Amino acid sequence: MTTRAKQSQIHVIDERCKGCSFCVEFCPQHILYQTNETNAKGYQVVRVSEPDKCTGCGMCSRVCPEFAIYVETPDGKQ
Ligand code: SF4
Ligand code: SF4
Repeated sequence: MTTRAKQSQIHVIDERCKGCSFCVEFCPQHILYQTNETNAKGYQVVRVSEPDKCTGCGMCSRVCPEFAIYVETPDGKQ
């Protein structure tokens, strides 16, 4: 699932997500949340609530142990 934002795009690879919530806890903007939506393994996946507030800092991808979330910034940096 991909959420488009003005400045950055957050990508969540649903089938890799284990619902650990690390990204939710560490996002400085507090814009990630765990949903009731489950992947094939039964884990609750995460989504972005307010994509416009994403700064593209990349913290979510750095703390994710499953490489299940990453950010793409307009200039290609993460
Ligand atoms: S890139 Fe930064 S601001 Fe954007 S969702 Fe990830 S942790 Fe939050
Ligand atoms: S840190 Fe990774 S595995 Fe954990 S909830 Fe976030 S995207 Fe899913």
